[in-house]
Amino acid sequence: MRRIAVINQKGGVGKTTTTANLGAALARAGKRVLLVDLDPQAHLSLHYGVELTDDQPSVYDVLTSSMPASEVMQAPRERVRLLPADIDLAGVEAELVSVMGREVILREAVDKVADDFDVMLIDCPPSLGVLTINALVAASEVLIPLQAQFFALQGLGKLLNTVTLVRQRINPAIRVEGIMLCMHEPLTKLAGEVVDDLSSFLEGARGSDVPWANARLFSTFIRRNIKLAEACSFGQTIFDYAPRSNGATDYMRLAAEVFTELAAQVPAEPASQPRVTNNRFPPPEPAEIANAEAPKSAAPKAAAPKAAVPKAAVPKAAVPKAKRKPPRPKRAKPKAEPKPKANADSKPRVAVTQVAPATSEPVVPAVPCEAAAPSEAAPAREAPCVASDPAPVAVVAPVGPPETFQETPVDVSVDDRTDNASSVRHEDAVTTAP
Ligand code: ADP
Ligand code: MG
Repeated sequence: MRRIAVINQKGGVGKTTTTANLGAALARAGKRVLLVDLDPQAHLSLHYGVELTDDQPSVYDVLTSSMPASEVMQAPRERVRLLPADIDLAGVEAELVSVMGREVILREAVDKVADDFDVMLIDCPPSLGVLTINALVAASEVLIPLQAQFFALQGLGKLLNTVTLVRQRINPAIRVEGIMLCMHEPLTKLAGEVVDDLSSFLEGARGSDVPWANARLFSTFIRRNIKLAEACSFGQTIFDYAPRSNGATDYMRLAAEVFTELAAQVPAEPASQPRVTNNRFPPPEPAEIANAEAPKSAAPKAAAPKAAVPKAAVPKAAVPKAKRKPPRPKRAKPKAEPKPKANADSKPRVAVTQVAPATSEPVVPAVPCEAAAPSEAAPAREAPCVASDPAPVAVVAPVGPPETFQETPVDVSVDDRTDNASSVRHEDAVTTAP
């Protein structure tokens, strides 16, 4: 079983959307998928239409009462099993504070069901507390969803530092598999710069001993697509809700990039479909630059000239980048009006390379954790997998190990005509680029 934690301590970057829909894509491609909802907000569970009642067990019971994962599992879709969350999970941090080996509880629980699955995806909360540490210990791969924005890079160093500590002290197998861009708008200048910074950063780590030494910046990015945002409000995955949307296409492609053996099942992409290639996107139209970036008449001196910050200068070690953030776009004002201060709203760029020495921060206990008290494996309840297309699903009975998985063909045909306005705009922009 591949064990993947979807982590970014920043909220709203696409962790839950990615866990839900990447999991759904993998299940459609024939993989047996275990989803673990480690966020007290329970958005992953809600995404699959699972809303627990008070008497139903959750992943909270796995972590605090050693309840076997098989007793907590729900079966929201064919080939998908879910360890659901509810708000009780918010108390775990405090409840486990004095528990020996609290970082390994999830790993021990999923070890017992690992043979029943091909892949586990863990949706992490927007923090680096004990829940996220449990995810990093239970996993062997980290996927980092990221929005290509200025602030998105700020926390990356801290996250990588935490991964490093977990690898040093508890889980030597953990590594960063890759970074994926979510809600991506590739034709903005800022997005291009972020892609460049990330690529340089990852390239700089090649051959080193850090957990991200072999990490990829996935060439598949997830376009902003309103269908993805709508699907979760119906308790559906994108494949239930809008299987012909850009969102469904992107997540199926991402599945094929994460699991390369699935590549043959994904249809050839249209020529208009761009990929992340280290800022080698078609250059944006001048009009687009003007809309997205240029405050030319408002503050011409504030924009840092490209030549002043050559890409080659991106440091490999912990040296912050001196680049300045260009000011926000403003409407051109009449000359009579006083000029705004040139750098009034500029902020220094934060390089993703600010990864502190791993020993500097006691996020993870220095002593290797003892195994938590073993729990008796409860007999799995007998229940078959649910039907292949049950959406919308309200609550589904718990089941045991999914021995009855069945193969179904994958249908990822693309019809962008059904998609949202922003995607159309994006496609248009792409096709008009030289
Ligand atoms: P996180 O789990 O990191 O907090 P979510 O996956 O919940 O982030 O995403 C935050 C919000 O953005 C949600 O409302 C979600 O529906 C929406 N969203 C996520 N990805 C996309 C996308 N590609 N296009 C449009 N909306 C998206
Ligand atoms: Mg979330």
